[in-house]
Amino acid sequence: MLKGRIHSLETFGTVDGPGIRFVLFMQGCLLKCQYCHNPDTWSLTDGKEMTLEEVLAEIEPYLNYYRTSGGGLTVSGGEATLQAPFVTELFREVKKRWNLHTTLDTNGYNEGPKIIELLDVTDLVMLDLKHIDNEKHIKLTSKPNDRMLNMAKWLSKEGRSMWIRYVLVPGLTDDEQDLLNLGRFIGELNAVEKFEILPYHQMGIYKWQELGWSYPLEGVPSPTEAEVQRAYELIEEGRKQAVSAIS
Ligand code: SF4
Repeated sequence: MLKGRIHSLETFGTVDGPGIRFVLFMQGCLLKCQYCHNPDTWSLTDGKEMTLEEVLAEIEPYLNYYRTSGGGLTVSGGEATLQAPFVTELFREVKKRWNLHTTLDTNGYNEGPKIIELLDVTDLVMLDLKHIDNEKHIKLTSKPNDRMLNMAKWLSKEGRSMWIRYVLVPGLTDDEQDLLNLGRFIGELNAVEKFEILPYHQMGIYKWQELGWSYPLEGVPSPTEAEVQRAYELIEEGRKQAVSAIS
């Protein structure tokens, strides 16, 4: 029987896609983001195994909230595409039974054609771009950014609905030229319905401490509102440059 390895679930999510959502956090991630607030999702063997029916039974009592708010089901992580067969079946089933909206929250460390069945039952992809500069991406996440950028281009070419999210960390992801370049990259994509900056916060520190790991961003502050605004402006400037270069 197909089972998923689940880290945790949330019945009333309001920040992981449109409306009120059931959010399923899958266990397992191949990245090691320095700002990760769920490092306990990284292990591929921890978490709890659940069947499809067990997950569906958790969703069912709250269906009314999801339907009336324009919400649905979001599968996040960890990295959800590492368990693509399970998530595909789950999305297929919630659509068949309840016609629920489905959102895939992913770091993009995969290849579109390899997870096409999953994407075919996904209404919205929330793609996290971690860094536009490859060297800095490797330092920040332990992996190069080519797969993530290719995933964004592939989703764009295929015309799949996409939101892009970017974590702004002072001193790490806020360089002026990088933000302009990120904007240019986004400006060359179609189908980006929304772009969001997520200001870095330190709320996940305690999990690193619980795991006995030293926190790599010790002492790094959250960005101020003005810094977030500046980042939006630089990205928008880059986006406009790309759009005018195309047209
Ligand atoms: S992709 Fe997400 S879960 Fe994985 S390390 Fe980065 S922030 Fe953590």
